[in-house]
Amino acid sequence: MAMKEMTEVQEEARRCVKCGNCLAQCPVYAETLEEPLAARGKMALVESIKEEDPEYSKRYYKILSQCLLCGTCAENCPNGVCGDEIIREARALLVREKGLTLPKKAIFKYFLDTDRLMPLVLKAGASLQHLFLEKIPEESGLRLRFPLPFVDSKRFIPGLAPDPFLGFRSGWFRAEKETMRVGLFVGCVSNYMFPRVAAAALDLFLGNGISVYIPGEQKCCGLPAFGSGDDETPRSIARKNIEAFAGENLDRIVAHCASCAAMLKLDYPVLFGPEDPFRARALAFSEKVSDFTSLFAGVWKPEPGKAAPGTRPVRVTYHDP
Ligand code: SF4
Ligand code: SF4
Repeated sequence: MAMKEMTEVQEEARRCVKCGNCLAQCPVYAETLEEPLAARGKMALVESIKEEDPEYSKRYYKILSQCLLCGTCAENCPNGVCGDEIIREARALLVREKGLTLPKKAIFKYFLDTDRLMPLVLKAGASLQHLFLEKIPEESGLRLRFPLPFVDSKRFIPGLAPDPFLGFRSGWFRAEKETMRVGLFVGCVSNYMFPRVAAAALDLFLGNGISVYIPGEQKCCGLPAFGSGDDETPRSIARKNIEAFAGENLDRIVAHCASCAAMLKLDYPVLFGPEDPFRARALAFSEKVSDFTSLFAGVWKPEPGKAAPGTRPVRVTYHDP
């Protein structure tokens, strides 16, 4: 990865002219109304911070960590300041300098990037969660007495599915009258919490003449580690995911989680610098990646004013990371 130095990141942050155009769109600012947490405040902080500053690690990291990396500030910046990228780079610099916290290190290196531990632990968790949580009413205070480690007790986490999607669906699924071949990137949330979403995607593909290859050895996309400023773990994960889809003749690689799609398409090439021999493979892989919705918008091509076959009059929200 072409790692940026502090001076380069600060130079980019200095392009912010503090106009405040990004303020109204920042979801973190909307929630907290705290100026330092919007892109303008963070750019001011990044450009002025000094590594020898005693506040460098603690308060600085706390402020930087309160960003969803949604990129809305960058989209609304008239000066072309990529707030989300600068914030992630600043986190990465901090991690390079000070290292990851112990819980993050344990989760990223020994959980996300392993072949067996994550499936085993989550499978065990799916069996045991019934013992603890299912019989306790949602509103009961007892739930707060069994907090999950490292998770805010007020945060709602959906239950784990009894069987992960990849545990019972992997390999090739052939469509009749095949028009296209895609690889399906399932993602952790679909795999462990909502397998029915991945199953619905598979059905839609097959019903529309699209054959699907699902490599059973695919992993987390690596976004949780990448967003936290860890560059090593996502690089290792990216190599494994790219290998998992290699060797099959695929027209597209599709992710139905928009965050996973953005990670595979936009961030995998960033992980491998110009000198890295793996960069060409990462670029070729990311060129094939499509978000599920954008792929289907092209496949169905409904006539203007007419709904696509099978659509129902419902309101939906669309996650556009
Ligand atoms: S990040 Fe862009 S939009 Fe936000 S204050 Fe700076 S220049 Fe203005
Ligand atoms: S990336 Fe999103 S959450 Fe972060 S500062 Fe920009 S708008 Fe706010």
